[in-house]
Amino acid sequence: MTQAVCILGVTGSIGQSTLKVLAKHPEHYSIYALSGYSRMAELAMICREHRPKVVVVPAEKVAELSEYFNEYQLKNIEILTDTTGLEQIAAHPDVDIVMAAIVGAAGLLPTLAAIKAGKRVLLANKEALVMSGELMMQAAHQSKALLLPVDSEHNAIFQCLPANYMQLDKQGEPILGVSQILLTASGGPFLTTSLEQLEQVTPAQACKHPNWSMGQKISVDSATLMNKGLELIEACHLFSIKEHFVTVVVHPQSIIHSMVQYVDGSTLAQMGNPDMCTPIAHALAWPERIATNVAPLDVFVHAQLNFQAPDLVRFPALKLARQAMQAGGIMPAVLNAANEVAVAAFLKQQLSFLKIAQTVEHTLNQVQNVAAESIDLILHTDELARDVAAQYIRRLGS
Ligand code: NAD
Ligand code: MG
Repeated sequence: MTQAVCILGVTGSIGQSTLKVLAKHPEHYSIYALSGYSRMAELAMICREHRPKVVVVPAEKVAELSEYFNEYQLKNIEILTDTTGLEQIAAHPDVDIVMAAIVGAAGLLPTLAAIKAGKRVLLANKEALVMSGELMMQAAHQSKALLLPVDSEHNAIFQCLPANYMQLDKQGEPILGVSQILLTASGGPFLTTSLEQLEQVTPAQACKHPNWSMGQKISVDSATLMNKGLELIEACHLFSIKEHFVTVVVHPQSIIHSMVQYVDGSTLAQMGNPDMCTPIAHALAWPERIATNVAPLDVFVHAQLNFQAPDLVRFPALKLARQAMQAGGIMPAVLNAANEVAVAAFLKQQLSFLKIAQTVEHTLNQVQNVAAESIDLILHTDELARDVAAQYIRRLGS
């Protein structure tokens, strides 16, 4: 019996790595549904190879995809559209496993739909959890969905925590003798770039990550360290801990993917070559292990591992994320929305690199914090914060 997989965001970097892992294990997994937002030619090729039953694209892309399907004589693939289509495939009764690999807030509702339907959910789309926090964790608790981290750091932490961790009822304090989580960061492409130089850096430079090949948005987030800020918030929710138990450690080689410290003096680390196929395979098969094509770590080659504290002056985004987590309520959703708008503006060369964090800070200061009571409120907050951030960017540009 194979398990049926739905990949939300199959045309992206994580989507592609997921296909690679699945292709190695056709006896265990079959592909039921896929989604893509752009790059229809690529999506059609993926459909030709993997023959999903359903594919979801934006309404305005249906004609283009249908043309490719005609050309390839793909007759039995249903095309659905937009958010309802995404939620439908994520919650479909025939689907066992959902890879949540859409980038940004657009992934929130489909990821939640998968969680509410009690699926095994492989979470790459960190923005969805940052926005909805406890609401998402509660939904998983209620539906008994298995929410497994794909983000390499969180997957590493999960591997270093006790095996029964998921079953425990946690109350915000570290459990089972855990004293600290060490969340590692590569430091991104600008680790040694001066503040003056940072003012001038281009999108192409920001997207050139030293160790990982990723989508544009997360690449920019890695360059500002907002990625680590989002991951700090992600870790607090996934592992039910307060933010002061999470320390960010810059580790430029990206060989240790994170660590867990225990009260007896032990520090457990998960190591491996930086390749997302490893955490994807782990989350797919957990608690079992399946093979990938990732080369085993050669410790003689990677003999030197360095660690340093992050520089919060050059990378204030990390500080802002910690503050948003401390404030709680809707502030993480505000942080995320403002960051998405600012990163998009930076990629379009409408905003300088250092102004990304400035835009986020401004937006956090403008929006009044309230308790994050419902998903509707989160979605409303997302829209509001986007407006505030966009206005600020317009003002900076004029
Ligand atoms: P990507 O940009 O390469 O791919 C994003 C995918 O989402 C694409 O399939 C795209 O078509 C789809 N998409 C984009 N906008 C959409 C929208 N509005 N509606 C529906 N679909 C949309 O991004 P990625 O690097 O694969 O990252 C995906 C997620 O995984 C992000 O949340 C990222 O933070 C997280 N993540 C990525 C990596 C990595 O190595 N790439 C590592 C850890 C976590
Ligand atoms: Mg990560």
